[in-house]
Amino acid sequence: MRKQRTQQPDWAALHQWAATAQAQILQDLPPLGPQPAEATSGPAADDFLPADLRVPSHDQVAGRMMPWRSPLVIDGEVAACPECGKYRDWLILSTQDEVWLRCRAGHQYRETRLDTAWYNRHAGPADATHATFEDCLRHLGH
Ligand SMILES: [Zn+2]
Repeated sequence: MRKQRTQQPDWAALHQWAATAQAQILQDLPPLGPQPAEATSGPAADDFLPADLRVPSHDQVAGRMMPWRSPLVIDGEVAACPECGKYRDWLILSTQDEVWLRCRAGHQYRETRLDTAWYNRHAGPADATHATFEDCLRHLGH
């Protein structure tokens, strides 16, 4: 008794189908972001948008600030506003490796004993980003 011949799949047709399906999938994909040629075109691309229209990345935000309600002790000394003497309810601003203190009355001065590393140690994750300094002040109730 002859062994019954099993039917082989039509490999050629399957391959053709797979190739077509793959081509279809590739066509359905949304276009990728900037093409490599654009991404590497150098300084010309940097001038494409004015700096203030670009969405800032995490490292590019102009500054960060956090409220600091209690007295702020620096090197064992309570920081006080040089103009009005207030020593609590600060806003602490961090920008370009400088730390500024802003009192409730809106006086601002640079606190040279504090730096970005200090700020990062004390700041929690940002809960919001703001387009302008004034927006941020309002958000923090100042
Ligand atoms: Zn003040």
